[in-house]
Amino acid sequence: MDKGIFITATDTGVGKTVVSSALILKLKSQGIDAGFFKPFQSAGDDAETVKRACGLSDPLSLINPYNAKLPLAPYKAFKKVDIKKLLDAYKKLSKKHEFIVVEGAGGLFVPIKKDYLMSDLILELGLPAVVVGRAGLGTINHSLLTLKQAQDLGIRVKGIIINNKDVRASDISRKSNVELIRQFSKTPILGVIPDCKNRIEAVGQAVRAINVGPLLPKRSASNYRRLKSLNKKYIWHPFTQMKDWLKSEPLIIEEARGVYLKDAKGKWYLDGISSLWVNVHGHRKREIDLKIKEQLNKVAHSTLLGLANAPSVELAAELMKIAPKGLSKVFYSDNGSTSVEVALKMAYQYWQHKGRKQKQKFVYLENSYHGDTLGSVSVGGVDLFHSIFRPLLFDAYKADSPYCYRCPKDKHYPGCKFECLEKLERLLWMHNRQIAGLIVEPIVQAAGGMIVWPAGILRRMEELCRKYNILLILDEVATGFGRTGKMFASEHEKVRPDLVCISKGLTAGYLAMAATLAREEIYNAFLGDYKEQKTFFHGHSYTGNPLASAAAIANLAIFKKEKVLTNLQPKIEYLKQSLKRFNTLTHVGDIRQKGFMAGIELVKDKTNKTPYPWEDKIGIRVCQEARKHALILRPLGNVIVLMPPLAITLPELEKLTEVTYNCIKEITQ
Ligand SMILES: *Cc1c(COP(=O)(O)O)cnc(C)c1O
Repeated sequence: MDKGIFITATDTGVGKTVVSSALILKLKSQGIDAGFFKPFQSAGDDAETVKRACGLSDPLSLINPYNAKLPLAPYKAFKKVDIKKLLDAYKKLSKKHEFIVVEGAGGLFVPIKKDYLMSDLILELGLPAVVVGRAGLGTINHSLLTLKQAQDLGIRVKGIIINNKDVRASDISRKSNVELIRQFSKTPILGVIPDCKNRIEAVGQAVRAINVGPLLPKRSASNYRRLKSLNKKYIWHPFTQMKDWLKSEPLIIEEARGVYLKDAKGKWYLDGISSLWVNVHGHRKREIDLKIKEQLNKVAHSTLLGLANAPSVELAAELMKIAPKGLSKVFYSDNGSTSVEVALKMAYQYWQHKGRKQKQKFVYLENSYHGDTLGSVSVGGVDLFHSIFRPLLFDAYKADSPYCYRCPKDKHYPGCKFECLEKLERLLWMHNRQIAGLIVEPIVQAAGGMIVWPAGILRRMEELCRKYNILLILDEVATGFGRTGKMFASEHEKVRPDLVCISKGLTAGYLAMAATLAREEIYNAFLGDYKEQKTFFHGHSYTGNPLASAAAIANLAIFKKEKVLTNLQPKIEYLKQSLKRFNTLTHVGDIRQKGFMAGIELVKDKTNKTPYPWEDKIGIRVCQEARKHALILRPLGNVIVLMPPLAITLPELEKLTEVTYNCIKEITQ
């Protein structure tokens, strides 16, 4: 539910202040406690006038944080504008009132600070707008420009109010202009204020003329009920027992901002799992939104089969700047699973072209997850998800997982000397002539339970691959794009993979896109005369999608511009410190963390590491409890996962760990 409205205008002096006063008074007359916020004021006393006219008790300094003597744009009038200060003031006011009328200064494109316009403030406040326009000559063009631009920027305009100030009743365009604006902008006219002798009379007239109905928070309950019923009727959810779902009260997300999600009932939640591990810089990140919209004005989709498109080319070049060393080619697809399919098929076909026709098999690790398509499930090691499909899958070799908490060799790191690799080495030693590649999730086996590997073991795996001449395929779908504290997890151990799969964070959580990055040597093996049929026969309809490419380009630019990885380090340390106290909880068996990927394994009995029975749904119950405290989590069995967007702030991180701690305590004690 919108807690306010932003009053903007087609230009200055059109009567925003009259409209603001009138709106507040009218809302009050309907029993709604409305407050007033005027971030900037130059050369005037509008804020004070509204405060007095509407009988508001808030201090003037809160209602109007920035006040200047000269009639200048805020950018020029104020030395330094602190947007956070404005947001805080607004937040304070909205805690005190049911509804806030915010009055801008001038129109949408009034500069506030460097690279920041009034329209940015509107978006940041997350409010819909009302546009005040004037009657008289030129008004149609002014009004339509403002409305179209607002629409392009994603500002929701709830209506237009026309002020007839200084326009004589005899002016023949008066009526028809209003009608034309409504017709061409498809935006409701909320009122037409007649020309008045003075401000007081104008406010009185405006109160009568304006219809506030469309501005009032809609009763979202009925909308929620409708969505809930349609959801249950039509949608089959992934990884979800639908029988339970049908009985449940579903959370339906309608909107988001930063690290918060809003449901159809109007409640806000902290997104503790980056919308299933994809979101990076927060939701509705301005630069990404704009980049996608810009691309939308050019072309939404065009194929890579037989054609190229500009954004996917630009992106490939950018990816190569950050990719693990030795990789030089980008093969696009559209999700993590397909990027794995591509890697497997490439690895297999590579050896075919190299004349090593027996190299057809793959090695994977226990507890690994590489996606849900049949090829990626064939190298999947999470029995709960994968065992039912065994008859459909190709054969592959399974090696042990370096799962230190439940060590397959019952040893302790570092004394263990990586004994868990024995099985892998034995397989490679015995079957290397039949093995095309080893596929692993580097350093963190994510879906298998946030299993964090001991330092140095990935490097050791690479050495084994080199020794036995098999390809090393790294699935960085979850670990890529900063999630482990470096751009890619392989960087921690300076490993040089042959193939790398990326997806989730590639578009910062905006659009479905994936890529398989390959070494030059692999690519070269596919070159040949047309009749040799060495082509890589694989591709998807939406491969290299321009909108997704645009999002990914913006994503990478933000990493650079905002020094995301550098700024992430203290947050990683903070998370590490905060997680320590979880150890004191009776049922916390293990705490695992690598960068911004964390898993808390709950156990029935700590001394024997006895797992909770699966039917206990212990993880699910903790996450349901978290929901009551405005936090969204999703467990992996008995492991509680914390994986917030990299953009999360320290206070938000504190909230995330605090709520999680309390919920685990509440549910397990
Ligand atoms: C999520 C994930 C996948 C699958 O990606 P989808 O886009 O869901 O198909 C593959 N590998 C890893 C490591 C993942 O975490």
